Amino acid sequence: MLITNDSDKQGFSNVWVMAEVTEEGKIHPVTHELLGAARKLAALRKSKVGAVLFGAKVKDLAASLIPYGADIVIAAEDPRLSLFNDELEGRLLNRLIAKYRPEIILCGATTRGRALAPRVAVTAVCGLTADCTGLDIDPENGDLLQTRPAFGGNIMATIRCSKHRPQMATVRPRVMKAPAPDASRSGQIVFEDLVPGDAAKIKRILEYIRNTEATVNLADASIIVSGGRAMKGSGGFRVIEKLAAKIGAAVGASRAAVDSGWISYAHQVGQTGQTVQTKVYIACGISGQIQHLVGMQSCEIIIAIDKNPDTPMMQMADVAVTGDLFEVVPALTELVGK
Ligand SMILES: Cc1cc2nc3c(=O)[nH]c(=O)nc-3n(C[C@H](O)[C@H](O)[C@H](O)COP(=O)(O)OP(=O)(O)OC[C@H]3O[C@@H](n4cnc5c(N)ncnc54)[C@H](O)[C@@H]3O)c2cc1C
Repeated sequence: MLITNDSDKQGFSNVWVMAEVTEEGKIHPVTHELLGAARKLAALRKSKVGAVLFGAKVKDLAASLIPYGADIVIAAEDPRLSLFNDELEGRLLNRLIAKYRPEIILCGATTRGRALAPRVAVTAVCGLTADCTGLDIDPENGDLLQTRPAFGGNIMATIRCSKHRPQMATVRPRVMKAPAPDASRSGQIVFEDLVPGDAAKIKRILEYIRNTEATVNLADASIIVSGGRAMKGSGGFRVIEKLAAKIGAAVGASRAAVDSGWISYAHQVGQTGQTVQTKVYIACGISGQIQHLVGMQSCEIIIAIDKNPDTPMMQMADVAVTGDLFEVVPALTELVGK
């Protein structure tokens, strides 16, 4: 809603996370990541964290959100919620927003989150900042500071919605770090029923067809070896593929390499590719422009190999090796296992 005076703002409190259930019926990891971010925001706002969970079978899943940071789980369990239906979930979420009046709502920037969040924001008459890479609270007035790349990633913009509540943001998976679960935490679970209006006059989902096309799974890799423009051709990638095979890593790439046609788009890391959060990220001949960095900056250990020691990637790396990758990478591959 539009805030016309400060007392309107007081009517909104708590940080909500829209929990997501995967096709396999598990909690999507982005939910845990968002709960970690929500805890930090709620601590600054001296408020509570709510997780909102919809699905056909969510009773057991609801309790699992409390160790990750939820103080209250608001769950709706109904067979009509088995397949994602943005109209139905949108109406239900808007009804819950009107009832509980959360101050902040975080959604994963997944296919589902990207369909649901804008629909809900329009009805709730509030703003929505998509694909945030940083979230904070303005100590002056408590507004949510939502940072995201803008103008093609050339600047980082911090956006606020001071005149509307709730404040809504989506965050890509693997941008935030999931907290370790704390089994000693306690919380409350509340169940909400669908009402006839939620499901009225909506589309029906007749069939769900899973995309079984084989694709590169960067998301689940714990190590990625990525190559950039320096690979000079698809043949250049053989060098890093050998290292990747030896250490059980997936092969990533910069957009420069993908745009040159040396490797498929499924390998691209970055703003217009995939966001990854691996234990180790080895960047070979990737300069580290902001659009690449936003896709891998949360990796635990970053190793960079570049001729130029002054690139952004070399500067931010935990280990920076200055040298020709066509010498360094084969030498490294040779050393593995010795
Ligand atoms: C809207 C938009 C979205 C974008 N999205 C993405 C994205 O998702 N992902 C992405 O990666 N980029 C993206 N980009 C492109 C990005 O701005 C950069 O152009 C790109 O990341 C550069 O790729 P690179 O680092 O491989 O190439 P370069 O910047 O050219 O870097 C090559 C590096 O290789 C080093 N080098 C050269 N030869 C050798 C050698 N033999 N041994 C060792 N080092 C060597 C050089 O010193 C240099 O540092 C996007 C751009 C825009 C405008």
